[in-house]
Amino acid sequence: MKAVITKEPGGADQLTYVEQNDPTVASGDMLIEVHATAVNRTDILNREGKIGYAENPIIGVEIAGVVVDPNGHDQFTVGERVMGLVNGGGYAEKVAMPVDRAMSIPSDLSFEQAAAIPEVFLTAYQTLYWIGKLQKSETVLIHAGGSGVGTAAIQLAKKLSNARVIVTAGSEEKVDFCKKLGADVAINYKTQAFEEEVLQATDQKGADVILDFVGASYWQKNYRSIAVDGRWVLIGVLGGSKVDSISLMDLMAKRIQLTGTLLTPRSDPYKAELSDDFLKKTSEYFEDKSIKPVVDQVFPIEEVADAHRHMESNKNIGKIILKVR
Ligand code: NAP
Repeated sequence: MKAVITKEPGGADQLTYVEQNDPTVASGDMLIEVHATAVNRTDILNREGKIGYAENPIIGVEIAGVVVDPNGHDQFTVGERVMGLVNGGGYAEKVAMPVDRAMSIPSDLSFEQAAAIPEVFLTAYQTLYWIGKLQKSETVLIHAGGSGVGTAAIQLAKKLSNARVIVTAGSEEKVDFCKKLGADVAINYKTQAFEEEVLQATDQKGADVILDFVGASYWQKNYRSIAVDGRWVLIGVLGGSKVDSISLMDLMAKRIQLTGTLLTPRSDPYKAELSDDFLKKTSEYFEDKSIKPVVDQVFPIEEVADAHRHMESNKNIGKIILKVR
């Protein structure tokens, strides 16, 4: 089969689509013919050699495709369309996928649309609900509202808990898009002080939950934006990972619960349980199209380097997809 590997840790030009061995299918896996996969920031870190948990030389953590060999499992049959997380190896013509985290593709969705679901919707669902404990009608502040995870989180927070959704984004185009997706308040952080806008929009109370992809550069602003008893979930460090000075007293004074999480290194059982719970809570909304995957652009897999550069330029709204066949 053909697959994408990184020649040397480094820039997008290190990515190459070459002949590789077929995947090894372990007893808990089934073999999938990949039709589409998607680009994630974790793939970029992996390409750069900055993360140590990638055992598979083929990058890519999510796919949409067709079951070619269920490997003795009876949950799926040959030819079924599935999507889900894989343990690396997603940028390839074939991949081994743990059967207990495969999800049936909602009817009417193309493989390219389905590949836009697993990583960002599971991350948004896990952080909003399992970790952030977002309750009905609470207020959530979602940074990078136009990102893959942001566009998923806006839709989930509105649909599953009718939350008040406040987002930040870096352009008027992204701000408008977030409003169309359902955000109640959308702030262009390049032209507005987002913490002032959040306080104004919440009668000075602040947001109950913050979904934070930015980290260090937003530290003080997030502190000002969060409500007493707020849950602050850190899932990215796009604005840096070292904060010069933190007042622990501040955390105590507002009784803040600050949590960090990474989905990719989580265990197989955790990913299976998350996929199962997510599907139970959301499949009807994908079927009736009240929740939709957001696809920014589809690149042929041969143009994987351009797809990575597109993400690195922060231009995408929603997901960047690689079409494999
Ligand atoms: P994405 O689609 O590439 O979007 C990221 C967006 O973040 C950019 O387009 C940019 O939009 C904004 N951004 C970049 N640098 C920024 C900065 N310094 N300050 C403020 N905004 C900045 O990304 P994604 O795939 O949705 O992922 C979003 C984040 O979640 C990434 O950090 C990723 O690593 C993380 N993530 C974490 C997990 C986990 O389990 N912890 C799982 C999946 C993703 P603007 O134009 O609005 O600036």
